[in-house]
Amino acid sequence: MDFAFDNSFHDSMEGFYAPAEAAKPSSPTLLAFNHALAARLGIAVGDTGDDELARIFSGQDLPEGANPLAFAYAGHQFGHFSSQLGDGRALLIGEVVAPDGARFDLQLKGSGPTAFSRNGDGRAAIGPVLREFLVSEAMAAMGVPTTRALAAVATGDRVQRERAHPGAVLTRVASSHIRVGTFQFFAAHFGAEHVAQLSAYSIRRHFPDLAEAANPPLALLDRVIGLQCELVAHWLGIGFIHGVMNTDNVAISGETIDYGPCAFMDRFAINTVFSSIDANGRYAYGRQPQIMHWNMARFAEALLPAIHAVEPAGVDTAKAMVEAIPKRFSAAWVVTMRRKLGLLEAGEGDEVLIDALFDELEKRQIDFTGFFRGLAMMLRGDGAMLEGLSEDPEAMAPWIADWWARLAQETDAPLERADAMDAVNPVYIPRNHRVEAALASAEAGDMAPWLELLEVVRNPFVERAEWAGFAEPAPADAGPYTTFCGT
Ligand code: AMP
Ligand code: MG
Repeated sequence: MDFAFDNSFHDSMEGFYAPAEAAKPSSPTLLAFNHALAARLGIAVGDTGDDELARIFSGQDLPEGANPLAFAYAGHQFGHFSSQLGDGRALLIGEVVAPDGARFDLQLKGSGPTAFSRNGDGRAAIGPVLREFLVSEAMAAMGVPTTRALAAVATGDRVQRERAHPGAVLTRVASSHIRVGTFQFFAAHFGAEHVAQLSAYSIRRHFPDLAEAANPPLALLDRVIGLQCELVAHWLGIGFIHGVMNTDNVAISGETIDYGPCAFMDRFAINTVFSSIDANGRYAYGRQPQIMHWNMARFAEALLPAIHAVEPAGVDTAKAMVEAIPKRFSAAWVVTMRRKLGLLEAGEGDEVLIDALFDELEKRQIDFTGFFRGLAMMLRGDGAMLEGLSEDPEAMAPWIADWWARLAQETDAPLERADAMDAVNPVYIPRNHRVEAALASAEAGDMAPWLELLEVVRNPFVERAEWAGFAEPAPADAGPYTTFCGT
């Protein structure tokens, strides 16, 4: 099996990483392999057997041309700065350039200790590995920028957490692993020159159109803010809660990264928190825009020395850019919501209509995902689904009348509008109770429920009769749901 590695970070960014070596698993077994993604990356799998795939994607066999390394980074975790984090349980094997010219990192996650492991074991348990695989593939299918999952391999070793679990390694594919925390690391330890070097690399790799900007690090800040506004609007639009939006978990590419305690909400509640370690709700559903703003302020701080070095006045521009984030986010959010509601043009009062909807959804405890599909059904003349989502369907009638009146300002045919809504509003998300059941089976050795759920969430927008159960929220008596970081 050949990889056309072209390891630009390794070759041009010495000092920004530590060389790393994967631990040898005792008996690697392939759990899942993403053939479609391999094809997209231009990796010729050919007739490579499962055993060979398992050896490569567990770190047992190092492919030719690989330069394994662990990235250095820092980060604000729950608001507190750690100057020394870095890849403690992951290593980059190398970069591949896809046939269309796009460059991707291939990273093993859970492949043993690195120079940055501190007290950690560098390992990952099968549950979190399969969870990241499933959720990141669901996000990709829903059109949300995200890292991807290429392979999951059971190592045959046990990983000790609150109890012992089977160990596994995830192969993560990202357009890069450069994080806000990467910039913070070099700002904290080295200063302007290193930050400028990282900025220049990031621009070459992700945003070549910014290379000629008058102040490149400032242009980078602007671009990354724009991408983060869009990303978080996307998240909110599908009820996604990242759960641990620390600055080390924010990729400058604008991809969702580091799926840990993330989850989707069923019934709408703005303060929803699933993560066991987020006792104060810092990363609750509705706080994500504010936290994104806060994280971008930290990004700006890290870039300031490099921005200043180009032109001192750039610092004021950066400050204004950060202050403008709430407005910029709102604009992205309204666009997302208009699409969800079948509105094609910007209308006055849309923000009010949207805010009122969220009040109603919360009051009536309505299933967030189901609601938007129900609205489209109503446009097709079938109100039954929408009625079935609420104990008191009449209560939503005034809001629906307002929405209806708003639709009437546009000329589109209802059926076309309903189809456009269905193309952005998923039927199938990774429902928490389904994910848990699939992971429990997988840990017990039966991959079938996980594989079925993967197939479902990879096809989120087209309803299928045989998948009806996958569209349903957790039973009302299921109790609160809690997620854990415990990779
Ligand atoms: P996270 O909160 O998952 O984004 O991880 C925060 C930091 O802890 C990163 O630097 C990780 O590399 C590190 N880390 C998390 N789990 C482990 C582990 N099992 N072994 C070593 N480092 C870890
Ligand atoms: Mg992380």
